[in-house]
Amino acid sequence: MSEKEASSPDHRRLGQELDLFVFSDLVGSGLPLWTPRGTLVRNLLDDYVWEMRQKHGYEKVEIPHITKKDLYETSGHWDKFKDDLFRITTREGHEFAMKPMNCPHHTQIYARRPWSYREMPQRYANSTMCYRDEQSGELNGLSRVRAFTQDDAHVFCRESQVREEFLKIWDIIEEFYGRFGFSLTIRLSFHDPKEPEKYLGDKQRWALAESTLRAMAEERDADTREGIGEAAFYGPKLDFMAKDSLGREWQVATIQLDLNLPERFDLTCVNEKGEKERIVMIHAAIMGSIERFMSVLLEHLGGTLPLWLSPLHVHILPVSDKHADYARTILQALKNAGIRAEIAEGDSLGKRIREAKTSKIPYLIVLGDEEVGAQTATLEGRAGKIGAFPIAEIVSRLHTEIQTRA
Ligand SMILES: [Zn+2]
Repeated sequence: MSEKEASSPDHRRLGQELDLFVFSDLVGSGLPLWTPRGTLVRNLLDDYVWEMRQKHGYEKVEIPHITKKDLYETSGHWDKFKDDLFRITTREGHEFAMKPMNCPHHTQIYARRPWSYREMPQRYANSTMCYRDEQSGELNGLSRVRAFTQDDAHVFCRESQVREEFLKIWDIIEEFYGRFGFSLTIRLSFHDPKEPEKYLGDKQRWALAESTLRAMAEERDADTREGIGEAAFYGPKLDFMAKDSLGREWQVATIQLDLNLPERFDLTCVNEKGEKERIVMIHAAIMGSIERFMSVLLEHLGGTLPLWLSPLHVHILPVSDKHADYARTILQALKNAGIRAEIAEGDSLGKRIREAKTSKIPYLIVLGDEEVGAQTATLEGRAGKIGAFPIAEIVSRLHTEIQTRA
């Protein structure tokens, strides 16, 4: 490996150094396996998104990872995506597929009963794995995989509710990407009126949907541009582009308005006049794919995860064996406060400090004769020594930093 390769952030190398994920020849390419540390990071990201969704009235749902072919024939995905699907024939000869997305399944949860306009919108959140049979040559670390987790959500609502629901998702996206220091720009992805045959649904509905999106962007004073011809065939969307620390631009979240699936699955609610009213669907993943987001995040941060997202918060370093008891007391105090800590023993202090820095542990707690005597410990952050404090103070300082996702 050249010096340049060693220093440029590659999420595959960072993932290995931080012990987050692994690939196995026996399992197959494009199928990442998540270690305990990697799983922890994924769950922390997912919990964060869920916390924000919950405030906006989302509810969790769960679905099987396979379906009869019939679902995708109705949704239209069988025609469009049948070559990308992992297909299964049962012993009774029925054809099934692994799900490449969750929307069709979710429509069937919505369709379980009639809904009054008073109960709208219905908002379903579901972080779950999807499967696409990508070609081997196109697979690349976590950026392009065959099994990926969507932090997916679908809002079933009336056309009059689109604006409010979009704005809620927009808030979540801004908070989420802002927290990691990404700057966002937005593309209003609209249909191309010169190619009407490429899009579904009547002109009027498109015009209304697009003007709603445009007004929203103006109102928010967002950094937006219009992308004519960038709409999905089933509706316009807001695409969010994140600029990372290396100046690269990634398409991350999207909010998509869907006029098609409600039509295909005949999804309605009963309006104020007692009539059936066609609803619309909003697709609203925040990270998109957790795998792809992690590849972007790891490279953006050069592997230096913020404290709340670090698999391990603290290494406790007793200067010598005789400080081991005190180190265990500190460990217990940290653990009681939900802080993920380990004692690093054995090697020389210098070596242990270097190792902790290589594995990007956010904090070190060093203790020797002086600290045991004063019942304190010396706290060291990534930028260097912070000082000696009573244990309770260290616990409360780290606890606050974790809770606030600083
Ligand atoms: Zn969807």
